[in-house]
Parts: sequence; structure tokens; C-alpha cells
Amino acid sequence: MKSKTILLNSRPHGAPSKDNFKITETEVPALQPGEVLLKALYISVDPYMRGRMSDARSYAAPYEVGKPFMGGVVAEVVESRNGQLQKGAVVVGSLPWQQYTVHTGKGLHAVDPEVAPLSYHLGILGMPGQTAYFGLLYIGQPKEGETIVVSGAAGAVGTVVGQIAKLKGCRVVGIAGSDEKIDYLKNKLHFDEAINYKTTGDINRAVAQACPDGVDVYFDNVGGAISDAVLLSLNKFARIAVCGQIAFYNNTTPPTGLRVEPILLRNSALMKGFIVNDYASDFGTAARELASWLKEGKLQYQETIKEGFEHIPEAFLGLFTGENTGKLLVKVAEREA
Ligand code: NAP
Repeated sequence: MKSKTILLNSRPHGAPSKDNFKITETEVPALQPGEVLLKALYISVDPYMRGRMSDARSYAAPYEVGKPFMGGVVAEVVESRNGQLQKGAVVVGSLPWQQYTVHTGKGLHAVDPEVAPLSYHLGILGMPGQTAYFGLLYIGQPKEGETIVVSGAAGAVGTVVGQIAKLKGCRVVGIAGSDEKIDYLKNKLHFDEAINYKTTGDINRAVAQACPDGVDVYFDNVGGAISDAVLLSLNKFARIAVCGQIAFYNNTTPPTGLRVEPILLRNSALMKGFIVNDYASDFGTAARELASWLKEGKLQYQETIKEGFEHIPEAFLGLFTGENTGKLLVKVAEREA
């Protein structure tokens, strides 16, 4: 049997393009004792992968040129010579961008198809949901009545951040890049205010107007001019969770902007960067709470699902042009069992 794989063809300089990806086809090797054959069902595309396409030092190891992209995948066991993983089981884990993968099963987590749609394990019940949970609750520590601002508000992480903040009784202001997203945030997710940063003209004034009582918590998914504007509206003892800086991921020169230190000092504010894995010991707690909020209908969940293995590169590139509302995924095959 043959299987397609997506490799890093070259490292991007600036914005990535389709040329940085290459699709190859190889024969799937026969299973050895202890191994399973996995068929990819859903493949996650995530902004952090842009960092891994570069060889600059970062928190995640660079992808190697000529080797497969890796990331979150939901896959089905379609053959098994492993006593722990039966044929028909569904797993989630870090896997190559490949249609079929021979694997030992190590590091994979079985998912219960009855709990939620399988794709949710790459979004609200997976890494992005956990990121929202820890960044907001552990760093942001929102209190009832406080104002929280989230940038990248209509994306995988941002939609969960804003909704958890509403559950905690906060006034929530989202910042996103289209009128459709603003409508979604205000009318579907019930954010109190939402700002379209692409059309607002004066982002500093827009943030100040949307936050008449100032900003107590800022969940930063994007960085750049948007974050500068929010920092200018901080309240005393504000907390800033630095989750992502997508505005800079394609930069070829170091970013410049506001000096934050005088603002932090003046406001006795706390600014903390984090990586979701910093909280690995509490993943179980977050997973249970997110799943129960979802089940009780307290959290709504949105996905943008592209179809077809060959479309993974263009789906990934769409993260940088804002093509997604909610979690962006690619469905690559139907489940067999
Ligand atoms: P996402 O928000 O679902 O998708 C990315 C969104 O970023 C796009 O839809 C686009 O929406 C926005 N964007 C793209 N370029 C932008 C720019 N130059 N300025 C402002 N917004 C821009 O992605 P996600 O998975 O939820 O991730 C959100 C952020 O969190 C990313 O920065 C990611 O790297 C980070 N993250 C961090 C961790 C961690 O452990 N620290 C974990 C997961 C994600 P618009 O239409 O609104 O522009």
C-alpha cells in the first residue's frame, strides 16, 4: 500500500509559501510485532509550526528539510500487532503529516469516540483548549466584573479564552480581523465588545473606547500594534498572558514597538509568557473541566475544516491570512470502523 507524506522542502524567508512544502509517496512497510498501522483522519495546522519551519532557536525543535512535518493528528488503528491498541481504536498524538503511519503506540492517547466529535481532540479538548485554560485561569486569574481583552479572539485559542472569561463573570472584549468574526464574537459567543483591527483606523482609541473601565487581563495571541494598544489601557495590577505573537512569525528583522517596562511598573502589572506544556501536570484537570463545560453547553465550539490531504499546506498558510474562525483542521479520511 502507498501513503503520501508532506515534507519540509525548504525553509521560508518571511511569509511561507506552497514551495516550502513537498508531497511524496512511499510504500507503507509491513508491521513488526508491537506495531500498529495508523490512518490519519484529522490533521491540525497550528501557528507554532511556522517557528518549526525555521532553524532559529525556539521552544520546539526545528523541522528538518526533507523530513515530514509533525503535529497533532487524530488517527485510527487500521491494523494492529500491539496488544494495547486494537484495530478500530482512535488515538491522538504528535504524528507526521502522512496518510498512513507505522507506529509503536508510544506517546499516543486513545480517545473515546462517544465523548465528542473526534476532531475536538485537536481543538477545544486538545492543545488549543488547554492553552486557553491555563493562560487565562493560571496567569490571567480573572475575577468577576473585571475587563478582559483577548486578541486573535476568533481563533482556536481566543474563542475559548473569551468564553471561559464570560463564565467567570468578566466583561470580555475581543479583537479580530473581519466583520464576520466580529459578528460571530458578539452575537454567537456573546462577547461584550469586539474590534475589527483591520478596519478600525485608530486601534488605541478603539481599545480605550471598548474598555471604559480599563483592562484587567490581556490574553495576547498576536503581539504588535494590537498589544501596544491594549497595554496603553491597563489597570493597576493587570495580568498579561503572552500566549502567541503571530504578528511577528514571518518577520525577517527583530520586532520593535512600545517599551512595556514603564507601563508594567506604573501599573504594578504582571506579564508572563507561557507554553502550554509548562502546565503538563494539570492537563487532566483542564481536560475534565473543558469537557464538562462543553457537555453542559456552557462552551460553544467552532471549527473551520478543510478537506483533503493535499490541501494541508494551503490550510496552514490560511492561518496567516485569517481564513479560519475557530480551530483550523484538515479532514484527510473517513473513519473505517
Ligand atoms: P488561530 O487564532 O486559530 O489562527 C491564527 C489567527 O491569527 C488567524 O485566524 C488570524 O485571525 C490571526 N492573525 C494572523 N496574522 C495576524 C496578524 N499579523 N495580526 C493579528 N492577527 C493575526 O490560532 P491558534 O491556534 O488559536 O493560536 C493563536 C495564537 O496562540 C498563535 O499566536 C499561536 O502561536 C499561539 N499559541 C500558543 C500556545 C502556547 O503554548 N503558548 C499554544 C497554542 C497557540 P484574524 O482574522 O483575527 O487576523
